[in-house]
Amino acid sequence: MIVKPFMPRLVYFEPKALEYPLGKQLFDKFEKMNLEIRYTTSHNQIRDLPGDNDFQKYRVAKSTLVVGVRKTLRFDTSKPSAEYAIPLATGCMGHCHYCYLQTTMGNKPYIRTYVNVEEIFEAADKYMEERAPEITRFEASCTSDIVGIDHLTHSLKRAIEHIGESEYGRLRFVTKFDSVDHLLDAKHNGKTRFRFSINADYVIKYFEPGTAPLTKRIEAAAKVAKAGFPLGFIVAPIYLHEGWEEGYYHLFERLDAELPQEVRKDLTFEFIQHRFTKPAKRVIQKNYPMTKLELNEEARKYKWGKYGIGKYVYKDDEQLEIQKHLHVYMKKFFPEAKLEYFT
Ligand code: SF4
Repeated sequence: MIVKPFMPRLVYFEPKALEYPLGKQLFDKFEKMNLEIRYTTSHNQIRDLPGDNDFQKYRVAKSTLVVGVRKTLRFDTSKPSAEYAIPLATGCMGHCHYCYLQTTMGNKPYIRTYVNVEEIFEAADKYMEERAPEITRFEASCTSDIVGIDHLTHSLKRAIEHIGESEYGRLRFVTKFDSVDHLLDAKHNGKTRFRFSINADYVIKYFEPGTAPLTKRIEAAAKVAKAGFPLGFIVAPIYLHEGWEEGYYHLFERLDAELPQEVRKDLTFEFIQHRFTKPAKRVIQKNYPMTKLELNEEARKYKWGKYGIGKYVYKDDEQLEIQKHLHVYMKKFFPEAKLEYFT
């Protein structure tokens, strides 16, 4: 299956966005493509999305791009993978049933891109100055799959180059898409770690519609590593299903078979077990009523979380099993890779 690079079906502009070069450029581009363009006073409030019911509106929203100006230039923290989340976009056109955006975006699933990139970079510079000479890591995919929309905006490419010029900055992001060609010549200076999200066949097949197939992600990973980017893989969410041990073994086996040897020198892995919150469960069941995703609180361990929203993770003995198995697989196929964390 081929997933074409994302193209919105409907685009909204905040009038203020047209005062920025990127806003104007996107407007001209979408106008030439004859896309339907509407206006909105705020990227946080789109009231007239087409669709007769929430189910339809949700699907329309996932193919709607809103071009706006980011007002909050205070960055969220982003543990454990980085110090701060750099806000270049919010939302994603993918349809992963378990997506963490179900909790954070709830009723605003449309995709927002911010055109005041220079102001966002200035804010990033201040964070780096505050911490210097400590390294400051920025995560660009906390609120979106940024790679999936960057072929339209190139703001990620600019962020890669901006951080590439900094002394104490590092950038990281993760993707399930393969539209990476425009990023290959970005002057990253080795300061951006390009990560791909990978999973067992079962999880990709049942829970990740609208994303690139695994083979395409691995191909894209090889391309970016050959362009000198430090490379990483995030196995997430690690999901217990019948035959999960073989499923994840097969994943590592396949990664080993398809990833060229020469791109493995500086390879990292991150392991993230499946988790859900109560509000996310409600949204998932509304938007994907037929999902096979197991969301049974009783079968999980409750973990207190930020803003009083606790999450349900696997029980301790299951977590140990997951850790043990995946660690063994990683060591077997990628003995030199570094495991950054399991969470
Ligand atoms: Fe969510 Fe990532 Fe899937 Fe997009 S690709 S829907 S951000 S999990």
